[in-house]
Amino acid sequence: MDAINAVFLTTYEIDKKYDTSYHQRFTEYVKMVEEKDWVIDGCMTDPKGDRSKHPHQQKDPDVFFHVVERKEDGVVVRGAKAHQTGAINSHEHLIMPTLAMRNEEKGFTICCAIPVDDDGITYYCGRQSCDLRRLDQSEEGNIDCGNQFGVHECLVVFDDVFVPNEQIFMNGESEFCGRLVESFAAYHRQSYGGCKAGVGDVMVGAAAAIAEYNGVQNASHIRDKITEMAHLNETIYACGMACSACGKKTEAGNYLVDILLANVCKQNVTRFPFEIARLLQDIAGGLFVTCPSARELRNPETRKIIEKYLVGAEGVDTINRIKMMRLIENSVLGRGAVGYLAESMHGAGSPQAQRIMINRLANLEEKKKMAKSLARIKEE
Ligand SMILES: Cc1cc2nc3c(=O)[nH]c(=O)nc-3n(C[C@H](O)[C@H](O)[C@H](O)COP(=O)(O)OP(=O)(O)OC[C@H]3O[C@@H](n4cnc5c(N)ncnc54)[C@H](O)[C@@H]3O)c2cc1C
Repeated sequence: MDAINAVFLTTYEIDKKYDTSYHQRFTEYVKMVEEKDWVIDGCMTDPKGDRSKHPHQQKDPDVFFHVVERKEDGVVVRGAKAHQTGAINSHEHLIMPTLAMRNEEKGFTICCAIPVDDDGITYYCGRQSCDLRRLDQSEEGNIDCGNQFGVHECLVVFDDVFVPNEQIFMNGESEFCGRLVESFAAYHRQSYGGCKAGVGDVMVGAAAAIAEYNGVQNASHIRDKITEMAHLNETIYACGMACSACGKKTEAGNYLVDILLANVCKQNVTRFPFEIARLLQDIAGGLFVTCPSARELRNPETRKIIEKYLVGAEGVDTINRIKMMRLIENSVLGRGAVGYLAESMHGAGSPQAQRIMINRLANLEEKKKMAKSLARIKEE
């Protein structure tokens, strides 16, 4: 929805300035997506090559997605999009420019929809830690908790793909790229206040459960650490709620979140989950990285030894303790950590991208005026 909302808003603004019909076309596209109940990949991030250079300055222009040929009935595009979550199990890629483009970068200014199985697209699936363990049948016995989900990220390569006019929603209007990127980022940064807080709830629950399994639930420092985890997590949630509640209806008819608060939300998300994960590892003890495999549990001889020595608090099933340790391991180091930690850092833009927006929107002049007024400073 982040990409859909941002393109909806931007196409409206382009149509107001130019005699284009992108907005009408995109509105029809959205209706079709809703009717067909499609999954759309918000496809923004280019590989970007040398980060100190703009798209038109790169040695190989293909590191930024671009138009290579214009035809009467459409365009031919080339390039790649990196880190695409759920690329393979989506129906279409909604391609957006990755950054504000300059006047001479009209060829890189393209927003369009491309079916995921179109000719000329290749998917390079990301390798992640513990992915083979997920497939390893010898681990059957269901102790590898938190490592079952088939989420993936892909490098998606577009090798001269034809896009018909009906699927194009921006084509050369470079002065609107910044607006599209900014609004997509804002919607996306808001959504982290829900999704990462949801995972955070599981982290808090895992901390409380493992503390009980270990018999330390009443220790004052453990209770305080769990309280801190909950506080950090609820702060993320509060930011997500705040930027949504302060959102306003746009002229285009959809709602836009409060951009400053959405950036504050995501900036907190680049930090707090790491502290939550640190506290969870502290509370768990080292077993979350040293647990024996399910094979040892299937052998009655070794199972007896594991149950004897990996026992926790009295009355706690050792296998439940091991399952909770595996959940913690996968959440802070394995596939779960890709979404909970790495994506918290870089998804919807790395931390500096939010700091630039916060600085721009913080209205420092107004705040200086307030401080000077209280300090009874009068300046000409
Ligand atoms: C798990 C995961 C899932 C993702 N899913 C999606 C998705 O579904 N769709 C999508 O479009 N994107 C997705 N992303 C991409 C995400 O938006 C990018 O990772 C993010 O924008 C950072 O880009 P990058 O990875 O190229 O890092 P870089 O841009 O290389 O950033 C690395 C560091 O360099 C700094 N830096 C970069 N350029 C400059 C510069 N010019 N000047 C100064 N400093 C600079 C950054 O601030 C950062 O500190 C996903 C990312 C992750 C990790």
